[in-house]
Parts: sequence; C-alpha cells; structure tokens
Amino acid sequence: MTTHSGSCHCGKIAYDFESDAIAGGMECNCSMCQRKGSILHFVPASAFTLKTPREDLGTYTFNKHLLQHHFCPICGIAPFSEGTDPKGNKMAAINLRCVDGLDPQKLAIQHYDGRSI
Ligand SMILES: [Zn+2]
Repeated sequence: MTTHSGSCHCGKIAYDFESDAIAGGMECNCSMCQRKGSILHFVPASAFTLKTPREDLGTYTFNKHLLQHHFCPICGIAPFSEGTDPKGNKMAAINLRCVDGLDPQKLAIQHYDGRSI
C-alpha cells in the first residue's frame, strides 16, 4: 500500500488515500462522467482522508442521489466523489486526473458503460 495525494487545481480541496500502485482507471460514459472527463479509481472510505473541511466542498447529486459529486467552488475542479458500493460499503471515487505524480496519458483505461444503467 502507498499513500497517494490529490487535490483540485487551486488546492482548496485536498486528500490522501491508501492504494496499491495505480496503473489504470475507469472512464464512464454516463451523463455526468461524459462531461466531467474523470478517470476513476475506487477506494474504501476507510482508506480515504479528506484534508479539507467538508463545508468547503461543493456537492452535486442527480438521478437517484446515490453519489455525491464534490467539486471546488473556487477553481471548479472535481477531484473526487463519494458513494456506496452494491454491498453497502462506503467508497470514495478518486479522479486520477487530480492525483499527484500520475500521468493520465500513461494510465490503462477501462471503459464502463454507465450510460446503459
Ligand atoms: Zn480549487
């Protein structure tokens, strides 16, 4: 396990998370991800540490409101989302484009057909 860190562009939203080495991520074609362009990597909420007060997060939900899409009210970047997996475990969905030391162009992309759900 390695501690990775990520942030929005201006740095108002920042976090750490524990994960194995990251070689790839998921791109989804749902109405949200299509627009946001995130490359997603999921970790249990217990492996995620938010370093920003929650009241500083912008939060957007839609459809069934199962996911909380967080964004920075200053720079507009969306560095992570939160939700619950099918088994009921709380998860953080990291936007790998916001993680330090990763080159998004070197990540293996797995496509997820969120549009069909
Ligand atoms: Zn920001």
